[in-house]
Amino acid sequence: MEYQRTGFGINSPACRISKLKSRLKLSKQMNNNNIKTIEQLEQYISFTSCERREIKKIIESHPMLVNQYYMDLINWNDPNDPIRKMVIPSKEENKSEGSFDTSGEYENTKLRGLQHKYSQTALILTTNKCAAYCRHCFRKRLAGIVADEIVTDWDLVVKYICEHKEITNVLLTGGDPLTLSNDKIAAILQKLSGIQHLKFIRIGTRSLVVDPDRIVKDDDLVNILREYSCEKKRLYVTTQFNHPREITPRSIEAINKLHDAHITVNNQTVLLKGVNDNSAVMAELQGELTKIGLMPYYVFQCRPVKKLKHIFQVPLYRAFDIIEETRSMLDGLSKRFRFVMSHETGKIEILGRSDDHLYFKYHQAKDKLLAGKIFHKKLGKNDCWLDL
Ligand code: SF4
Repeated sequence: MEYQRTGFGINSPACRISKLKSRLKLSKQMNNNNIKTIEQLEQYISFTSCERREIKKIIESHPMLVNQYYMDLINWNDPNDPIRKMVIPSKEENKSEGSFDTSGEYENTKLRGLQHKYSQTALILTTNKCAAYCRHCFRKRLAGIVADEIVTDWDLVVKYICEHKEITNVLLTGGDPLTLSNDKIAAILQKLSGIQHLKFIRIGTRSLVVDPDRIVKDDDLVNILREYSCEKKRLYVTTQFNHPREITPRSIEAINKLHDAHITVNNQTVLLKGVNDNSAVMAELQGELTKIGLMPYYVFQCRPVKKLKHIFQVPLYRAFDIIEETRSMLDGLSKRFRFVMSHETGKIEILGRSDDHLYFKYHQAKDKLLAGKIFHKKLGKNDCWLDL
């Protein structure tokens, strides 16, 4: 009675309005195709109150963002669904061993937003936003959270590249550069394409995988990319398909549109426990990517990143065996990828195995004296990373 008199009982007009408002809010958010909150996630998954509290806390520190397109790729009847594992937080993220900077990004930062680790390549952090936040992201420290490593002064970036003639290419990354507005993307390409000694510009994006409509439905964007790639500076797009189920008619359409715009598209897969740590799945993925004209470029060993290493890393011996078995199922084009780890000291290729030793080679090295060096190591059965 008390509640009803004050207008806040469960059937009171105020409460009905409040429920209506929250349904409208939810439906507006759903119409935006983005799943961001625990309430939205509960449309798909039932949590105990304890799980709910933990997941909510995780989302507060590392945001969740999944659009309807990618949600629809998930098999909700399978709690271990690989697509689900890549974007839906698990309570395992509470564990905190590992590092947020596993490949020395802070040390390689020459000015805000620009990293220069390998002499020919400058890496530019254009945004901290993504079309979806991957739970396995190695830039978990910033994706969707903080923008303090993102470029603010593009004139300084251009000046740095102009002064370093050894830089032949830049990699636009983040976050996902294709979440920027078309105007912003055009402005960035405009600035960089004027630098004579740059041979090409790379764009690292997972939008092709998680939000292909960004390309399929936006001819203005495709026209901007076409104009630059054809007339000013060759563009390469590097994307990240990790599972064959991510290859859909829509993502193929997006890739074809980029091909039509004279853009080469490469793929970098991350080897992820519970997603693609299986040679049949990995072989199907690399084979299908080749079939649709997307070049397998790298398979990356998952880095020992805080909050995710224990969820996604595969021990190196097992990882190597999976990759070798994968190669044995593939034709020459499909097995062109290198299996590498992006280590603080350089990009290290995992070349071979002899009994209990693994053989490695510096494909890229921060210290030039290490370039091309081959070495071997006996590792622990569960070691997932090199301690050098
Ligand atoms: S799209 Fe890339 S940067 Fe963004 S969360 Fe996924 S892996 Fe990280």
